[in-house]
Amino acid sequence: MRMLLMGPPGAGKGTQAKVLAERLNIPAVSTGDIFRANVKDETPLGLEAKRYMDAGDYVPDEVTNAMVRDRLSEADAGDGFLLDGYPRTLAQVGTLDDILAEHGHKLDAVVALIADTDVLVARMLKRAHVEGRSDDSEEVVRHRQDVYTAETKPLLRVYAQRGLLVEVDGVGEIDEVSERVLAALKTVTE
Ligand code: AMP
Repeated sequence: MRMLLMGPPGAGKGTQAKVLAERLNIPAVSTGDIFRANVKDETPLGLEAKRYMDAGDYVPDEVTNAMVRDRLSEADAGDGFLLDGYPRTLAQVGTLDDILAEHGHKLDAVVALIADTDVLVARMLKRAHVEGRSDDSEEVVRHRQDVYTAETKPLLRVYAQRGLLVEVDGVGEIDEVSERVLAALKTVTE
């Protein structure tokens, strides 16, 4: 299974990615997690990414694409993966297509978690207190929703046109949403 998990910031992608990857026995590859680990370790990549992340902007495509290319060529991603938070721009869609083609692979499914923006903003502000993320101030939270709407939401159409998109209601208990995703996956992969 090679799949993407998409949806606006705060829709629960990270949580679902971990649960689903475990259930499907594939690695979850989260670009946000990889960036955050690099920021924490103060690597050159982390120092570059941090200023964009703190402002709620996307890290430049060249940087993000190079990182994903490296990650997907690791052995554990050879038989499948769940990408969480990538691609987020049309340029990234093109790069992912290239990476997959180079390996003779293709995507099986794109799952979009759907949730109301106001619910999401409230959720993210609550999470700010729990996780202490530096990109969770109210202004940045709202900006991230706007960036998603402008840059990433249009990608859903692209994947819908390819017949890969399944939309899943992202509001509910963690297990409930996971079951919805697993049921929806059967409809596109069968
Ligand atoms: P996330 O945890 O997925 O919400 O990502 C946190 C932050 O990392 C985002 O707000 C971006 O600044 C950066 N980031 C994560 N994934 C990408 C991506 N595919 N393209 C550009 N920036 C990204």
